Amino acid sequence: MRHALPCLLLLVACKKDAQDTEETGEPDGTDLSTEVEPDTDPPVEPEVRNAFCGGIEPADAGPMGGRVTLTFDDGPDAEDTAELLALLDAENIPATFFIVGQQLDDPSSWPAAEDIVENPLFELANHSYDHANLARLSLGAVADQIDDTDALIDTFGQQTQFFRFPFGSSTCETADLVRERGHRITGWHIDTADWCYSAVGVEGVCLQDDYWRVPTEYEADMRSFILEQAARYDGGILLFHDIHAWTVDSMPDIIADLRGAGYTFVPLTDLDTHPNLNAGTPDDIPYLGEACDTANDLCFHSEYFSWCEPTDPDNSAVTTGVCTMPCEGLCPDRDGAAGTFCAETSAEYGQCLARSGDINEQCTLVAGSVPTAYSRFVGDSSANASTATVCAPSSN
Ligand SMILES: [Zn+2]
Repeated sequence: MRHALPCLLLLVACKKDAQDTEETGEPDGTDLSTEVEPDTDPPVEPEVRNAFCGGIEPADAGPMGGRVTLTFDDGPDAEDTAELLALLDAENIPATFFIVGQQLDDPSSWPAAEDIVENPLFELANHSYDHANLARLSLGAVADQIDDTDALIDTFGQQTQFFRFPFGSSTCETADLVRERGHRITGWHIDTADWCYSAVGVEGVCLQDDYWRVPTEYEADMRSFILEQAARYDGGILLFHDIHAWTVDSMPDIIADLRGAGYTFVPLTDLDTHPNLNAGTPDDIPYLGEACDTANDLCFHSEYFSWCEPTDPDNSAVTTGVCTMPCEGLCPDRDGAAGTFCAETSAEYGQCLARSGDINEQCTLVAGSVPTAYSRFVGDSSANASTATVCAPSSN
């Protein structure tokens, strides 16, 4: 299985002190909405699962048929975007540019926006007005963020159809606002972490301490990190940022890598590759703690470290599993899914599992799991000691 993951090695991967990335300016890969976790008592659980609230998960779960789609966030930038456009145009590679509205306050960015609109390979899309964490704003303010940026894009002669949440941070209510406007919420399969490699510490290096999603073996090797993730989904949507010169300078190698591995480049509008995205009907990908099928191993896969753990590993005829990932202290929650808990399933590491509750009918909906009381794996985190009953694989 592709996630014969060495959990012990991944232990540090689950430090969720991602607030530090907030200060770096570009943490799209960081789901800020998941960091706020009091986690002292079972969270209030919604009555109805709503699978369409997240801002990170891609609408099409994959595999992606050997096709990749480039997306660039946070521009346009007068210099870096312009250089990138020339490169992509020369290579005949399509791309979508999720722009931040206030970037257009600077007239020097306008030629890049115009070049995007005028080239059929490219399109503008909406990434909010000022890159706020929309999960923390009033709904009125969120509506303004969406509408103001739409209006700006309109001035360049394009009606945008795609929207991406800053930080991937969404709630069910903000997601509804986006969908009410006919926009498609665009997550990603491949978090390149380019902002970290580009702009945090040494150029070309992203330490796991700086961004927890980057495995230690790829700390100085973004190209291999990208290829590994692409292989995991046989393609997918890649998340980059065209405001970093290092990212743009790296693109020729990345393009060559992807072509060399046999991938083809398609736009977000490619219906064969992104049918659910374009239809606005995302795949319902199992979240952490939810039931999954080990035969296809599809899990909340925007989390690099998640995997579908078999509930009966000794019986290959049984393909029930539980989506999980290693953790230390806390686990991310998601609207519409059961609250999660970092259970001390071994002495060395914790494992994110769902709390037993009404939303999973006291684990009945997590086939093969057993309600089991665990202590929290605190590790080196600042989380409080606690216990909870979670839906654990019976193999535990
Ligand atoms: Zn962004």
